Amino acid sequence: MFAIPQNVELIISVLESVGHEAFIVGGCVRDIVRGAAPKDWDITTSAVPSEVKALFSRTFDTGIKHGTITVLLQKERYEVTTYRIDGEYLDNRRPSSVTFANKIEEDLSRRDFTINAIAFNPSKGFVDPFGGCGHIERGVIKCVGDSEIRFSEDALRMLRAIRFAAELGFSVDSDTLGAIAKLKENLSNISAERIREELTKLLCGAYPDALELLESTGLMYFALRERDYCGDLRSVVSQLALCPQDEHMRLALFFSHMDCEKILLNLKFDNKTQKVVSLFVKYLAVPISHDRYEIKKLLRVFSHNEFEKLLDLKILGGEPRELIAQISEEARDIFAKSECFTLRCLAVNGDDLADAGIPRGKIMGDALEKLLDAVMRDPSLNCKEKLLCLL
Ligand code: ATP
Ligand code: MG
Repeated sequence: MFAIPQNVELIISVLESVGHEAFIVGGCVRDIVRGAAPKDWDITTSAVPSEVKALFSRTFDTGIKHGTITVLLQKERYEVTTYRIDGEYLDNRRPSSVTFANKIEEDLSRRDFTINAIAFNPSKGFVDPFGGCGHIERGVIKCVGDSEIRFSEDALRMLRAIRFAAELGFSVDSDTLGAIAKLKENLSNISAERIREELTKLLCGAYPDALELLESTGLMYFALRERDYCGDLRSVVSQLALCPQDEHMRLALFFSHMDCEKILLNLKFDNKTQKVVSLFVKYLAVPISHDRYEIKKLLRVFSHNEFEKLLDLKILGGEPRELIAQISEEARDIFAKSECFTLRCLAVNGDDLADAGIPRGKIMGDALEKLLDAVMRDPSLNCKEKLLCLL
């Protein structure tokens, strides 16, 4: 059994010392039960936010509307949330209001899956009204209560079910899967940001074969903001299983046979992710060369680290390891010798060309590009005198 951190025990005992109840809950309890190390510690309590704030010296109002206060202890953050029940759900999205509850069981009953609806307190032990511990043991994801009702309340839960399957290697209960197939369209009511978050976690999971559930239930189309998935999902899944759990790499493999730019934009991925993933997809589709000049051209586009990721993706795509190792070695040598492949390291700049009588603007831009190209082919040309002679 995993030790609960002292800070968490402290928060619980401070709350209890003035007559409140407090439990750890959600992901951390799920992880303890399955013998994994919890990532973060969420606490649920009968105390209302103002009472929580009064008991600790450093707190933030993280989600005070939903009853969540962040308590800061020795620079660590702990989320403390008041027991709550959710009000009415509008448009298959989050509840329109929340009400604080008195009993831990009420709070657990609003949670999505039985495996996420277990609470634990050091002196009281587990509170597990929906059989979550048994479902963790059997590796099953099952809604708390009726799947159709729970997915109608919040359609994101459908994607979360498959996300947890991908992270934990669990199966999804057949009734729950049936409800997903039936209610999949409702995912259209969910914001791009919430879908993006779950889809990314799903793709980065240790068990990417869960992606087949996205396809078999028909949820895929809605997870991609109403676009069909193109590509051979079977073979993509087996590539994903061998790919590091890196967001950009996993996204690139997933979208490797698609025009993904629009989807990444629609899902509101950050600019960097949109750019890097699209470039990975673009360069995965074309053969890679071990020619030193061609490698420098790629290093203009990618950072060294991203370039190494591209090479790893190429191996997953079936390129011979020897060729990729040779390219990787060549790239390292380019860096070791500080060979120039950017305008910044060119031995002449715009001012030098202006002094030599080249007008600024497009003509100068083209001239600099031409010189850089020559230097990328022959590094010995990278000195001012030689370059000015080439003009
Ligand atoms: P992770 O380790 O990925 O953070 P988690 O279980 O902590 O997993 P969160 O998304 O952080 O997942 O949510 C914390 C808890 O809040 C869940 O365990 C679940 O009990 C509850 N929860 C989160 N989202 C929903 C939802 N859409 N509907 C119902 N309960 C939810
Ligand atoms: Mg969490």
